[in-house]
Amino acid sequence: MRVSGVAYPPRLSQRCSADIDISGEQIKLCCDHQMVSQTSLEQLTLSDSVGNLPVRVSFPDGWVFVPDQNKDIDCLLQKKGRKSLRIRKVESNLWLIFVSIVFCIAMLFAGYRYGIPWFSHYAARMLPDGVPVFVGEKILDQLDEQFETSHIPVQQQQAIRKRVALFQQQLPPMPFPVQIEFRGSDIANAFALPGGKIVLLDPLVELAQSDQQLDGVILHEMGHIYHRHMMTRLVESSLTAVVVASLTGDTSGVVHQMIGAGVFVMNTGLSRDMERQADQFAKQAMLKIYHTSEPMAAMFELLQQQQMRHTPDWLSSHPNFSERIESMRQP
Ligand SMILES: [Zn+2]
Repeated sequence: MRVSGVAYPPRLSQRCSADIDISGEQIKLCCDHQMVSQTSLEQLTLSDSVGNLPVRVSFPDGWVFVPDQNKDIDCLLQKKGRKSLRIRKVESNLWLIFVSIVFCIAMLFAGYRYGIPWFSHYAARMLPDGVPVFVGEKILDQLDEQFETSHIPVQQQQAIRKRVALFQQQLPPMPFPVQIEFRGSDIANAFALPGGKIVLLDPLVELAQSDQQLDGVILHEMGHIYHRHMMTRLVESSLTAVVVASLTGDTSGVVHQMIGAGVFVMNTGLSRDMERQADQFAKQAMLKIYHTSEPMAAMFELLQQQQMRHTPDWLSSHPNFSERIESMRQP
C-alpha cells in the first residue's frame, strides 16, 4: 500500500513530492520516484496528531514524510499503538458524547417519571371492564388470608351500603358500581380495589364518631375508583417491571410483579398526587352532600391520633395529615 505526500530531506528545507510503501516489513520512502530511505516499523517515529494537524513520519536518517491525508496512514498509527483517526475524531467530539449521555439519562428519567404514568393512565382506561373487576377480586382473595370476618352489625353494614348507593346517584357517574366490603382486622384502614370494591376494616368504622366522618373516608376511596387510581398504579407497576426486565434481561420480575399484585396494593400504596386527587373528589362530594367538609377533617384528626399510637402501613403512603386536614378546612 502506497501513501502519497511530501518528504523533507535531512537538514534541508526543500521538499519533494513523495510516497511511502507501508505494505511490507520495511517502510520505504520514495522522493520523486526514487527510493531515498527505508527502515523498519520499530525505527519509525510518528508525531502525535493534534486535531487536524498532519502527522510527521520521521525516518532514523533524518528524512521526514508528511502524508496528504492523515487517514491514509491510519493503519500505520494503529501498528504503532496509536489511536486511529476514527477514535481521535470521536475523542475530539467528547462534548458530543457527554451531551448524548446526558440526553439518554434524561430520556430514561422522563420515560420513567412521566412516560410510564402517562401511558398507564390511558392503558388503565382502555382495558375492558372485566379486567379490573377480575383483578380486584383476585386481590381481595389474597388479602382475605390475613383478614377476619367483620363484627360490624349487619344493620349498620346495610345502612352504610344504602348511603353509598345514594351517593352514587348524586355524584358524577362511577366507572364501576361501588360495592362496600367489611372485614375484621386490628388496624384502622380502608382501601379501594380495582373494579369498584371498597374494603372497610372494623377499627376504621368503629373509630368514626359520626356517619359523616365515615362517609368522608368512603368518599375518598370513591375518588380513587372514580379516577381509576388502583388500575393505573397496577399497570404502572407492571410496566416498570417490563422496562427493568428488558434492560436487565431478567423476566422473572415481571411474572412476580403480576402475581404479587395484591401484596403490591397493600405495600406500595398510591402516589401523593393520586391521594390529593381523591381528597379533592371527597371534599367536593362532602360539600355537595353535606354542605361541609369539616367531618372529613375531623376524621383525619382521629386517624392522625391513631397513627401516633401505631403506624399502619397504608397511612405512611397517605401524605402529611396536617396538610390534608388544612386543605379540607379551606373554603
Ligand atoms: Zn387514598
